[in-house]
Amino acid sequence: MAVLGSTGSVGTSTLEVIAASEGRLVPYLLAANRSTRALVEQARIFRPAWIVVADAAAAGDLDVADLPAGTRLAVGPEPLDDLVRSPEVDRVVSAIVGAAGLRSTWAAVDAGKTVALANKETLVMAGPLVMRLAERTGARILPVDSEHSAIHQALRSGGFDEVERIVLTASGGPFRTWSQAALAAATPAEALRHPTWSMGRKITIDSATMMNKALELIEARWLFGVPSEKLGVIVHPQSIVHSLVEFVDGSVIAQLSPPDMKLPIQYALLHPRRLPGPSRRFDFSRAVGLEFEPPDPQRFPALRLGHEAASRGGSCGAVLNAANEEAVRGFLDGEIRFTDIADVCARVLDEHPFQADPSLDEIRRLDAWARQEVVKWVCV
Ligand code: NDP
Repeated sequence: MAVLGSTGSVGTSTLEVIAASEGRLVPYLLAANRSTRALVEQARIFRPAWIVVADAAAAGDLDVADLPAGTRLAVGPEPLDDLVRSPEVDRVVSAIVGAAGLRSTWAAVDAGKTVALANKETLVMAGPLVMRLAERTGARILPVDSEHSAIHQALRSGGFDEVERIVLTASGGPFRTWSQAALAAATPAEALRHPTWSMGRKITIDSATMMNKALELIEARWLFGVPSEKLGVIVHPQSIVHSLVEFVDGSVIAQLSPPDMKLPIQYALLHPRRLPGPSRRFDFSRAVGLEFEPPDPQRFPALRLGHEAASRGGSCGAVLNAANEEAVRGFLDGEIRFTDIADVCARVLDEHPFQADPSLDEIRRLDAWARQEVVKWVCV
């Protein structure tokens, strides 16, 4: 296996799943950006053949003498692509955060690997291209996002032509009950305090704006090949029901489990088998309440952007994703307000030169353009 983003939230959960797999899952390569100390620590425990540090300057701080015997170091994104393609790798966990994850995920799909996909940005930016590539190379893409994993599991209950609607659940984040005025004054520390999930900083902010759900709508559109009209969102504060599929006869099939990423990670890594694993379990001896409520598009306008990008397709996903990444950075750095994130994304999405079927190069160009637009907006 190759674990891309092994030092992150999904990456470390993946290593817990590997550690509990009784030798079924063997890491060949672990990759991160700058966290060299954590990477060396992981190498000592898991003894991969390779560790890859993407950032050359950070790799300079690493002493290869600290690596265990049998583990080699590679530096930069190009060697990462080559190693991901190597015949020793069967499964690739794509858990790099943000647009940076597209490149190595593309290499894995191009090489026909089985990809456990956490990096939703890959499909948000280039869904049609990636899915066409997977069809050509025979690569399998299995979702790690808990919502898409739930949908993947629920879809096994009926024929694809029998699906009426797919409903993604959203926790609602830390600001579910906040007023519009309170949202405008929300601080990064408040936005980073997620009520049910422990995740990386970027996705935690996306969860607070509900942009995460917007990106997931786009991801679902391409991953499952469903028209956007069949996709919906419902707020479910307990994060126990991870998504629902409604079939034409009115039956709704859901997947439930405590909020713990180790379960969808294991599902993707061992698919189609189910085995005992390290994920948290329900305690059925205690009362459990499950609530559902419609999302509020006024206070969480990011959702509308997700529906729009899923419905228009083309370059919309890449532009929305890039604008959001840059806006989230601006919010975390104290440059813009919380409510500005969705506003700036809407403006960049509206103004972008739409392309119906962009190439990978065009997607990269539009990604850079959208980031520039946000920077200009922030500086005004
Ligand atoms: P984190 O910020 O916790 O971790 C990101 C990982 O990516 C780190 O290992 C980081 O390395 C690495 N990384 C960042 N940039 C690069 C780069 N240019 N090259 C190589 N490695 C890089 O993120 P999460 O684990 O929270 O999220 C990862 C992905 O999974 C995201 O796309 C997110 O949307 C998705 N996801 C996450 C969930 C979660 O529960 N966290 C749930 C569902 C999806 P370093 O430590 O050196 O910076």
